[in-house]
Amino acid sequence: MNKLLSIIVPCFNEEEVLPIFIEAITKVREELKNLPDCPCDTELLFIDDGSSDSTLEVLRSFNAADSSVRYISFSRNFGKEAAILAGLKNAKGDYSVLMDADLQHPPELLPKMYKELITTRCDSVAMYRDDRKKEGFFRRHFSSLFFKIMNKMSKLNIVNGATDFRMMKRIMVNAILSMPETNRFSKGIFNWVGFDTKWLPFETGERPAGESKWSAGKLISYSFDAILSFSETPLKICSWMGIIFCFISFMIGIFHFVKTLIFGDPVAGFPTLYLMLLLIGGLILLFLGITGQYLARIYLEIKNRPVYIVKETETETHKGD
Ligand code: UDP
Ligand code: MG
Repeated sequence: MNKLLSIIVPCFNEEEVLPIFIEAITKVREELKNLPDCPCDTELLFIDDGSSDSTLEVLRSFNAADSSVRYISFSRNFGKEAAILAGLKNAKGDYSVLMDADLQHPPELLPKMYKELITTRCDSVAMYRDDRKKEGFFRRHFSSLFFKIMNKMSKLNIVNGATDFRMMKRIMVNAILSMPETNRFSKGIFNWVGFDTKWLPFETGERPAGESKWSAGKLISYSFDAILSFSETPLKICSWMGIIFCFISFMIGIFHFVKTLIFGDPVAGFPTLYLMLLLIGGLILLFLGITGQYLARIYLEIKNRPVYIVKETETETHKGD
């Protein structure tokens, strides 16, 4: 029997691009089915991430035309990370691939990725962008700065230009699903679980329709989330700042003490005041840092909310009830 590949596609307000996407991916699915040495069956799993346009209707119509096209629809927008989790959780395949709906992750690359995955020893084939020059100035510099800071602050080693376009074996998918955290930064999780990953370069296509869902503000807050979920460095910085402040105030104290002993004290009271300010400020930062270390851990553990809520799937349709 042929192996099954699940193609997971998060969609948020993609009604315009989905008809173009389905046409392109159908051709590639045919090609995968007819690969000479390693034919492979595919299922398509769309995740409608709470779209407010007619994405869900489009997905229903895809499923009506072909039952190997499945979908899961969220009750609201939970973000791409949640959609990725839902896709991996519900994929039935021996292999899974994550890709964007907007054709920026070219479907034509799937056969190449599949061959690479089954013929080499690797557990996953991941794609990185090789065409950063095409991006705007802000986005290009911001994202390479982000990858640098991220790798420095955490124990991860994420390739510059890494995308979520990635094909994985079941063993790696199961490892990802075993990670219980609710604040999910997939690029970090893929790296954290280990396994052998083969990196291939690719050029992102132009989006043929619709628009990118990432504003500058969204990107910045996503980056902070990512760093906080994989690194304790910011908390350590707090503690270190506290220690440094205490040290400085101590040194200034000695300086004033010696100065007063030798030259007398022309401005009485003033040094004591700012020394106390510095010292107390330093101590507050130090303690905030330490408490923060514990608090962050408790906070992450205790929230334990579901990452997403499903409103509808291809087997459970609620049209109007
Ligand atoms: N996406 C999603 N939920 C969101 C934002 C985006 O599922 O909240 C999907 C979107 O439909 C697309 C993919 O994630 O398939 C990448 O989004 P986009 O093209 O907007 O990002 P960019 O390519 O600009 O990084
Ligand atoms: Mg895109």
